[in-house]
Amino acid sequence: MSSDDETFPDIRAGVRALCARFPGAYWRGLDAERAYPEAFVRALTEAGYLAALIPEDFGGSGLPLSAGVAILEEINKAGCNSAACHAQMYTMGTLLKHGSAEQKQRWLPGIAEGSLRLQAFGVTEPTSGTDTLSLATTARREGDRYIVNGQKVWTSRAEHSDLMLLLARTTPKDRVAKKGEGLSVFLVDLREAVGRGVTIRPIRAMMNHAATEVFFDTLSVPAGNLIGEEGQGFRYILDGMNAERILIAGECIGDARWFIAKAGAYASERRVFGRPIGQNQGVQFPIARAYAQSEAAALMVARAAGLFDAGERCGKEANMAKLLASEASWAAAEACLQTHGGFGFAEEYDVERKYRETRLYQVAPISTNLILAYLAEHVLGMPRSY
Ligand SMILES: Cc1cc2nc3c(=O)[nH]c(=O)nc-3n(C[C@H](O)[C@H](O)[C@H](O)COP(=O)(O)OP(=O)(O)OC[C@H]3O[C@@H](n4cnc5c(N)ncnc54)[C@H](O)[C@@H]3O)c2cc1C
Repeated sequence: MSSDDETFPDIRAGVRALCARFPGAYWRGLDAERAYPEAFVRALTEAGYLAALIPEDFGGSGLPLSAGVAILEEINKAGCNSAACHAQMYTMGTLLKHGSAEQKQRWLPGIAEGSLRLQAFGVTEPTSGTDTLSLATTARREGDRYIVNGQKVWTSRAEHSDLMLLLARTTPKDRVAKKGEGLSVFLVDLREAVGRGVTIRPIRAMMNHAATEVFFDTLSVPAGNLIGEEGQGFRYILDGMNAERILIAGECIGDARWFIAKAGAYASERRVFGRPIGQNQGVQFPIARAYAQSEAAALMVARAAGLFDAGERCGKEANMAKLLASEASWAAAEACLQTHGGFGFAEEYDVERKYRETRLYQVAPISTNLILAYLAEHVLGMPRSY
């Protein structure tokens, strides 16, 4: 959507007003300390934005995914960072879609009202990386419990989440009928688990992302916390990936718009050689090109979200939305930094912070190569490359 043709104008206006209370100085302070934006996340939760996609029956707003896209886009467009809390929107989708009635009743209302945070998602492991089916964390059934052993890495926000959606192997890889079977999804209650089988260690990363590594040492999880059927977890996780990719693509569009606005304003006001730098085509063109790229990507994001909301297949569009939007935000970041010259590197302009933050999206939650491999194989019919 172009900024003249905005979806959900009331929601966007509300998010913008909220974000205005959290200016660059707030984020710079947190960045320096690698601290979690607790006040910002609380404000978003209290205003109900993080529960936008939870059905009204469970206390949420029951809005479509497109509304979630609008919310995350506005947050990033305002210079804030959705990565602090975006998983609260999409992680609950696995519970909503595959959890039992009792599990949904147990957890969703608390998540909707903000008394429970579900924003840790434990899939990636140090040895298996992108090859999720080779993950080594195991969950072994013992009576009415599962015993979990292993390690996750890059688990964002684990220290700021009450619950974690965990993917673990319940049947050894060489004993499953089909390649994608044998993994299961659990909701781990971190409030009980930390110190009793779970250890969380922060990872200091390029940007302030509350990234951690999580160790499981004979953690005991009630069998009642298994989501859906044992052995079908990989399918459930794949199911949720379209929503995750579309929402994160929305964030990238927000970032791109922030960078383009910031670059355009600076180019018009900064004078060198007696005229605004933006009068030079060498300065204008990268910004204009990034704008065209981000508007095209925004159309793909809107299309993917529209298909998702209509209950149509959207794997192709969700992947392309994430690919194009993450590349558009990076092009905009590059143009913005270059336009600012040396000042682009000064913390007080916020450009270098946003630059570091937006770079992530070409690697996580899925790297560009893997999206290209998906398109090549599943859309264009070429041989599987891995
Ligand atoms: C800040 C941050 C937060 C994250 N948060 C989470 C989280 O909350 N939960 C979670 O589970 N994970 C999280 N991740 C992990 C993220 O999803 C992975 O880093 C990402 O999927 C890539 O996996 P990897 O790092 O193991 O890279 P690898 O799998 O080791 O790949 C390394 C590089 O090789 C390329 N590559 C690998 N195989 C192929 C192939 N067959 N063809 C072509 N190229 C290939 C990849 O594209 C990549 O560029 C996070 C990561 C970061 C950095």
